[in-house]
Amino acid sequence: MILIVVLDGLRPDLITPDAMPYLSRMAAGGAACTDSHAVFPTATRINSATLATGCLPGRHGIVGNELYARAVDPLASVSCADYRALQAVAAAEGEPLLSVPTLAERLRAAGRTMVAVGSGSPGTTYLLNPTGAGPVVNWAVAWPEATQDEVIRRYGPMLDEATDSLTRTDFVLRALTEYLVPAQRPDVAVVWITEPDHAQHHNGLGVPVAMEMLGEVDRRLEALVAHLEGEYPGALDCVVTSDHGFSSITNHVSLSAEVEALAAAVPAPLAPGDMVFAGSGLYLHGAAEENLPRILEAFGEHPWVGGLFVRDDLISLCPRALPQSAVGGGAHRRSPHILYTGSWSAEVNADGVAGFTENPSRLIASHGMASPFDVNNILVAWGPSFKEGLVSPIACGIVDLAPTVLHLLEVPAEGLDGRVLWELLRGGPDLAAMEMRHAALSGPLGTRRAQVVELSEVRGHEYLDSVSVV
Ligand SMILES: [Zn+2]
Repeated sequence: MILIVVLDGLRPDLITPDAMPYLSRMAAGGAACTDSHAVFPTATRINSATLATGCLPGRHGIVGNELYARAVDPLASVSCADYRALQAVAAAEGEPLLSVPTLAERLRAAGRTMVAVGSGSPGTTYLLNPTGAGPVVNWAVAWPEATQDEVIRRYGPMLDEATDSLTRTDFVLRALTEYLVPAQRPDVAVVWITEPDHAQHHNGLGVPVAMEMLGEVDRRLEALVAHLEGEYPGALDCVVTSDHGFSSITNHVSLSAEVEALAAAVPAPLAPGDMVFAGSGLYLHGAAEENLPRILEAFGEHPWVGGLFVRDDLISLCPRALPQSAVGGGAHRRSPHILYTGSWSAEVNADGVAGFTENPSRLIASHGMASPFDVNNILVAWGPSFKEGLVSPIACGIVDLAPTVLHLLEVPAEGLDGRVLWELLRGGPDLAAMEMRHAALSGPLGTRRAQVVELSEVRGHEYLDSVSVV
């Protein structure tokens, strides 16, 4: 059995023997990656869909933590935290929510079973397996209906909004270990634990309450693995990852002020819905769309902006700009006209944790940007399929988990953007055989600055390291 555990928002540098003794031992005993990557934008639901598909956002189509669909609401975005809103977007488009097959679908086609549980938003859990190829349990809802009925029969009503994140986590872990595993004997179980994300968002990085939350998460991880080792003696592989890193915020950017400022760059009156921010994207319509190059240039003049990327099919209108495919996007029907990231610095906060961004979030700390502190996530692989005591500096990422799981289960896996993490596998190649190259792309940012995209490449697979202003 392959267990994938996502610890939402856990930064690699916060895993210490003091804060997370169990995960530290697991990393030392198994294969630990020191150069793992979330996909950009480094937000939860985008990375949930990448874990679910082994594909980049430009291909799976969850291009933002919020989506914008004119057919659903021309004036505002919908939150991917709300699974009903996701279903409404797909229904309005008349297309599947995810534009590529999911890991769960590929497994089911091969006669294998995947179960998924999550203590984050229903939307995040839903995106792990939106076509219901195997049961999915969130604290607020479960799919299919028969699974939800059984959860309610065993544990009482689904939890309400007043519950805290650890109550929600314990609820879904119980449903997994007591119900889904014995009933399904799954080949793959995905467990999404919503902390330390909340604790860090609301309290900041490195503060005592956030560090205590790491301990809470660590104890639950240890209990979960111990339980499943008992169920699958000698046959439990475990991959622990996070969906993004985290940064302190130095400037809470106002997007409504941005819309006003950018509208001034358009030499024609704008109608409501001509310029809408959603997730990390700016969507244009009418007179705004006709003035894309002017808006791009004006946007690049704003000091907080740290990088701008134009939808690939519009790049001929802005010839010196960088396309969204440079950072994992492309020209999906949901791709914004302009994708943005904020400026970042490696400054250290009062609690000793490095990394600040300029970010529209209202929270103390957040993520979503192309700062290395947001991009770098954790990846630890442990169990009989993986090397012991390996520390791998080879670039890898959350996009590689689906291909690696499918390889371990001998399920065909064509058309994925990620790669099999051969270097972590027992009997796999030595690290020296894994050639890694670095590349950089640059383009203008407004009229006076330039942006540089740094990438690592392993065997034809590219990973976004950062976007910086120079
Ligand atoms: Zn997250």
